[in-house]
Amino acid sequence: MIDNENVSFWTYYDLKEAVPIFFGKRAKEEEMETVLVETEIYSCMDENCIGWMRKDFAADDLLCPMCGTEMLLEIKELPKI
Ligand SMILES: [Zn+2]
Repeated sequence: MIDNENVSFWTYYDLKEAVPIFFGKRAKEEEMETVLVETEIYSCMDENCIGWMRKDFAADDLLCPMCGTEMLLEIKELPKI
């Protein structure tokens, strides 16, 4: 048995629940907003290749992990790690 009073109660209850969920999600996204720092990277010399790696993680041979072409030292803004 649903009367008008009950319907409005549940509608209000649902809204109350929905709002904190929405703001909770927003806060998390803002928290994840990353700080970019200028980072030395090795970037593939092949124009058609998007391969690159952080200098800290570069292999000793400095060859592109994707195509094997030599890579050049560059500066790229990357999320801080
Ligand atoms: Zn490459």
